[in-house]
Amino acid sequence: MIWKIFSRKSHAVTSATSIFLTNSLTRKKERFVPIKPGIVTMYSCGPTVYSKVHIGNLRAYIFSDTLARVLKHAGYRVHRIMNITDVGHLTGDSDDGEDKIEIGAKREGVSAQEISERYTRLFLDDLVALNVDTHNITFPRATEYIKEQIELAHALEEKGFAYRIKDGLYFNTERFPSYGKLGGFSSASLKPGARVKINPEKHSPADFALWKKTPSGAKRLQEWNSPWGRGCPGWHLECSAMARTLLGVEIDIHTGGEDLAYTHHNAEIAQSEAVSGRTFAHYWLHNAYLTMNGEKASKSIGNVTYLSQIIEQDIHPLALRYFFLQAHYRTPLSFSWDALKASNEALERLWRTARRVADDSEMHGKPSKYQKSFIASMHDDLNTSHALGILWKAVKSEDVSPAQKWQILVDADALLGLSLTKPSTMQRNVPRDQLPKNILDIIKKRDIARDAKDFSTADALRTKLQNLGYEVKDGENGTIISRR
Ligand code: AMP
Ligand code: ZN
Repeated sequence: MIWKIFSRKSHAVTSATSIFLTNSLTRKKERFVPIKPGIVTMYSCGPTVYSKVHIGNLRAYIFSDTLARVLKHAGYRVHRIMNITDVGHLTGDSDDGEDKIEIGAKREGVSAQEISERYTRLFLDDLVALNVDTHNITFPRATEYIKEQIELAHALEEKGFAYRIKDGLYFNTERFPSYGKLGGFSSASLKPGARVKINPEKHSPADFALWKKTPSGAKRLQEWNSPWGRGCPGWHLECSAMARTLLGVEIDIHTGGEDLAYTHHNAEIAQSEAVSGRTFAHYWLHNAYLTMNGEKASKSIGNVTYLSQIIEQDIHPLALRYFFLQAHYRTPLSFSWDALKASNEALERLWRTARRVADDSEMHGKPSKYQKSFIASMHDDLNTSHALGILWKAVKSEDVSPAQKWQILVDADALLGLSLTKPSTMQRNVPRDQLPKNILDIIKKRDIARDAKDFSTADALRTKLQNLGYEVKDGENGTIISRR
């Protein structure tokens, strides 16, 4: 057991249990020990910004945010990177097909850059609505690191880990004997590379593209010169290149959804470790799927729900966070509107309780046995469902003083991100008939601008609304507005 000193605003906590995390590399729960004392470097695979992220994707980002919160609360300085994929991710995740960003650009009749900007902004809006601590994350875009990706691919070729074929440069997995060491999950019982359509020129089906040449006579919306011809990087390359550039050749933690483990993450490991000869990431953490009727929520299956739809149903976005936290991140979680509504009601009850505790305790905190066991649960591989149970027990208990209740709410707020200590500032969606006329007029103008795809005017009107104290989100049927 490690004892740490860390200060909290309302009441100092003087000890903490070690943090244990399930490492996908070993399939074991391991005590977390960082490379450098007191500092954690953490890389999370981010979205491909060609359309809106769905709530399945959001499960991955809430999980990594919760992990970062636990580490920060335990006294670590956490350096986080989450990539924005704005080039190179082809349809079907394979080395064939069209670039997803190009598909988005064609669909909406705009440039690749505009598509990326538009969906990056909506993605960040979703994260903010879900209390993901975006200030502590750097979001590099793949297109900003083309030089680094070319350098890495070049180094792999120099060391004999890559070969050239007609359509580009490929990683030679046979030269990297530990390829596939991350293993797979039950839902991905595939051989590495098995999802990749066989290209007869490849030495092995598992080999993957480091650089894709633009076919002669064709033109990509985004392409660059390289030693292998004009083209674009393979999808896996960006994460290896950005992680080593921004965090170093060895990092502490790498996160992502379980679908990424077998193909994308094994490819990242191969690219990074073949060049550095060092362990790329010491702890690999994967969240299980959000499912719909037993199937993975996925855009390609078409069974996805968006955060904007949740807000339109007058369900608070943090109810989704609460819903996710009720399950362990490594357990598949089945989505239903009824379950989400139940989470919304539970969260509102918790907020009401928190408001009463705030009044009774005058926001003065004091430690209790509940506070210790709450933190211990979170340190036990992020056992959020258990931690929520302890929180409820503590705030309902007649044997716990208001100051002790307040303290556990402070910790729960820091670790779970449910706005528990600011219940009075809770945002609520405001029905349009309750809005002042001047606000309604601006919203109407903004809806018209959005319909006309005049996004600069829509943005300016959003800022105007924010300055007037209203938060806006883009829903399926126009602007959704809440009071700040
Ligand atoms: P993508 O944009 O498809 O690369 O996904 C972004 C992130 O969301 C990755 O970490 C995926 O593993 C994760 N993800 C995608 N679908 C789901 C799902 N249904 N449940 C949980 N995580 C998911
Ligand atoms: Zn990645």
